[in-house]
Amino acid sequence: MAKILAVNAGSSTLKWKLFDMPAEVQLAEGLVDRLGQPQSKVKIKYGDGQKYESDTPIANYQEAVASLMGNIKSLGLVEHLHEIIGVGHRVVAGGEVFAESVVVDDETLLQIQNLRDYAPLHNPVEADYIAVFMKMMPWATEVAVFDTAFHQTMQPENFLYSIPYDYYKKYGARKYGAHGTSVRYVSARAAEMLNKPLEDLRMIVMHLGSGSSITAVKDGQSIDTSMGFTPLAGVTMGTRSGDIDPSLVAYLMKKLDIPDVGQMIHILNNDSGLLGISGLSNDMRDLEAAEDTNPRAKLALDIFVNRVVKYVGSYAALMNGVDALIFTAGIGENGDEVRDKIMRSLGYLGAKIDNDINYKSHGVEADLSTPDSTVKTLLVPTNEELMIVRDVMALS
Ligand code: ADP
Repeated sequence: MAKILAVNAGSSTLKWKLFDMPAEVQLAEGLVDRLGQPQSKVKIKYGDGQKYESDTPIANYQEAVASLMGNIKSLGLVEHLHEIIGVGHRVVAGGEVFAESVVVDDETLLQIQNLRDYAPLHNPVEADYIAVFMKMMPWATEVAVFDTAFHQTMQPENFLYSIPYDYYKKYGARKYGAHGTSVRYVSARAAEMLNKPLEDLRMIVMHLGSGSSITAVKDGQSIDTSMGFTPLAGVTMGTRSGDIDPSLVAYLMKKLDIPDVGQMIHILNNDSGLLGISGLSNDMRDLEAAEDTNPRAKLALDIFVNRVVKYVGSYAALMNGVDALIFTAGIGENGDEVRDKIMRSLGYLGAKIDNDINYKSHGVEADLSTPDSTVKTLLVPTNEELMIVRDVMALS
């Protein structure tokens, strides 16, 4: 049977999952951490809970891919590496060039590199990795799966900012969104769970993780999403501010004597959100643990819930109603208390959850709705890697 790899590469990490296809069985998952540093580590989980770890330093992308290939072979995950017929790569920015996943050739590789301005920390690294895989596994089909692609169905009234139109035409200044692969997976899965065609459903997907976004999905297509030109926009996140008035950037730069706007963007990306408000942690679990004794932890939680509720309300209005609400990602799948708090404000939509089910549901598919709820509320664990290998399979 064919094996397909899903790869999620960053500048210092390489995460991967190996699937047996078309059975869609996950055979292994691995991580190369702190690449380029003396303390680099390889961790692999496979079989029935077996683990492999190595501390051999990994200096660069070639060595990371060589170690991945060597380990897959030596752990017996494949007999021969040629069984891996395809590799799917998560690529952060596809701009307006890529509205769906594509087989990568030299030209597409160049286009991915050319989109670097949209994701300077991600696209160049991802393009470099794809090039290494193309060289080291020349028999495999390399496929790029874009975080932004699913949102390319948004119409101009939703993706344009109210700024001079030329900036869009000349510089691509618009909303692109993110988490598209996750939203595509969970919305399709939700339709299956509801036993209804995607075309008959208006859904709002709450992808709540360390990065969070809300997406309106109608007829299986993204109508609008809370992240913007970059994943900094939208709701409050672990360390990201979400939406703010841009004038505040100029004001704070003056007050804080920050000469470089990059430094200010860094603060909004890394020192803000739940961490910034609470001064305690970017992790929802820490805030919940401290909520009763630490007012700022409670405030951070309240603001998070408030922003999600506001986006959900605006998307229900945009779609003239909603048929299903979906919780996914780390907080959405496991944060029973957060789900409860959010849902307390959504009863007006006709969405009611059974808290006996809610407080028992963690990381597994569940219909949280009460029998009399006119809007369904579902917990659908995301699986971006499965979506990636499905795309590779379809394109191989
Ligand atoms: P990433 O965007 O890094 O993939 P995840 O989707 O894994 O993030 O979400 C990570 C976040 O999920 C953590 O920061 C934590 O706040 C949250 N989380 C995990 N488990 C729980 C839980 N039991 N209750 C509340 N929040 C949780």
